[in-house]
Formats: sequence, structure tokens, C-alpha cells
Amino acid sequence: MITVKSVKSLQYKISKLKANAHKIAFIPTMGALHAGHLSLVEAATKDGLVPVVSIFINPSQFNNKVDFKKYPRMVDQDTILLKNSGCKLLFLPSVKEVYPLNFDPRIEIDLEGLDELLEGVFRPGHFEGMLQVVKRLIDIVDPDFLYMGQKDFQQHTLVGHMIRKLHLNCKLVIGPTLREEDGLAMSSRNLRLTPEFRSKAPIIYQSLLYAKKNLKENNSSQIKAEASSMIQESGLKLEYFEIVDGYNLSLVTDPKNHEYIVACVACWAGDIRLIDNIVIKGPSF
Ligand code: AMP
Repeated sequence: MITVKSVKSLQYKISKLKANAHKIAFIPTMGALHAGHLSLVEAATKDGLVPVVSIFINPSQFNNKVDFKKYPRMVDQDTILLKNSGCKLLFLPSVKEVYPLNFDPRIEIDLEGLDELLEGVFRPGHFEGMLQVVKRLIDIVDPDFLYMGQKDFQQHTLVGHMIRKLHLNCKLVIGPTLREEDGLAMSSRNLRLTPEFRSKAPIIYQSLLYAKKNLKENNSSQIKAEASSMIQESGLKLEYFEIVDGYNLSLVTDPKNHEYIVACVACWAGDIRLIDNIVIKGPSF
């Protein structure tokens, strides 16, 4: 695996790969890598692509400065994990490299309200920052495919929307959410959970499974209330539990009117904010 820090050297390496008829799968990350991230690298390799991973903790997508400061940083360990997982190229840019002086990162597309619900309510500006960095990284890497995780459902929904709106020449591939044995979705933030909240956190996935099992015609508000109580009674602080249309994120009242349904949850486990989701109906990941 080769590690590069500048846009120029990355683009040189990529042009050589492309000249040899390789197809590039790009996997943007913020590091503190776990098996979920690595599963995307492995999936890309299995699909016959050359995986290129970036590690960049993007300041502009953190609406909370403490979260940014405390975000785990462990590049040496990440490098070893990536090497062992089959990653070919690691891009480790500085903030200046991603956002050079006088660079205007703004993206002028209509997000059609996809950024206003769920995470958008609680993390103002987050998706704007996320889309800016993903667009900038796509422009730098020029990948054939972009691999992202279902774990960040709203994120990949917005990225898919941006790719379509801007006619970007790369195809989005979604990998399934990898979980710990007790069901907790793997996340870099799990490293910061206290033992007490780590033991409570599996209730998040249990609430999602409950919703998936019990959602029926016209009972979505009841299921939402019951799943919300499961989380609240466990001692986690709920921000939202919503059952939404997987395409446009509108709230589902009657499941039979929707072909793609996702239940989404966000809550605080002590100081750590966790999100998760489950596909109840439709495209399965
Ligand atoms: P992050 O480093 O959190 O920005 O995540 C980088 C990529 O890894 C995103 O596309 C995430 O959706 C994906 N990812 C994060 N956690 C998981 C997981 N548990 N399973 C699968 N993919 C994940």
C-alpha cells in the first residue's frame, strides 16, 4: 500500500492505475477504522476494483467543536489495518490540501429537503460540510465507484442525490452495516463509550429490530412510540426515532404506500451521540 499526502501525488498514482485499465473504488473515511470501514475495502477488491481510501477528519461537517476535537485519531494503527485489508492507496491530506486558499467549496444544488429531516434537525450545517468534502474528494480522486456504508443512511442518500444532480461520473455502491456481536453498529465513536453506556447501547439495534418485526398497516406512530420508549427506558437519551420513506425521507404513516422503508434512530449514550438504522422494506443491504 502506498500512502500519499498531496493531491498531486495522489493524482499521479491514480493516472498510472487508470492507464493500466484499473477501475478505482474510492472509500472516504475519517479514520479510527474498524471492520465496517474495512468491509468496504474488501467489497471493492472482491468487485475487481482498486480500493483507494482517504482519511480526513473534515472540520466543516462538525457542528459540535468538542466532537471534532475529541474525534479519535490513530493513523498508524489505521495504516496497518488498511494494508492488511487490501487497500492499495491511502490518501492522507491536510486541511490545506483539501481546502486550498481561495477555494470555494460551496455546492449549488437543490437538496430537496433531504438535509432538513432526521440528522438535519439536530446537526445544522453537517450535511453541507459533508457534501462539500465528498464532492471535493471525488473531484480529486476521480473514482469510477464510491463505496459508502448503510450505517450512515441519510449521508449516502444525500451523496447519491448529489451524484445524480451534478451528473458526476461515479457510481455509488452501498455496503451493509457491520455490527458488534451484541448488535451495536460499529462506529469510531464507540471507542469513547464508558463501560456503563457501552452495555446499554445494544438497545439501539433491538429497538430497530422491534420496529422491523412489528410495523404493520397504520401502526407506525405506535411502533415509533414503543421503540422510542425502549431506548428512553434504557437510560440513553433519544433524539429521534423515525420511520421514513427510503427515497425521499418523508415520514411513513401507512407502510403499504411505500416500497422502501427505513427506521432511523439517533441518541446519546452519555456524551457520545450514536446513530443507526434498519431497512424495513425494499432494497436490502
Ligand atoms: P466515517 O469514517 O464514519 O466517516 O465512515 C466512513 C465510511 O464507512 C462511511 O461510508 C460509513 O457509512 C462507513 N461505515 C461506518 N460505520 C460502518 C459500519 N458499521 N458498517 C459499514 N460501514 C460503515
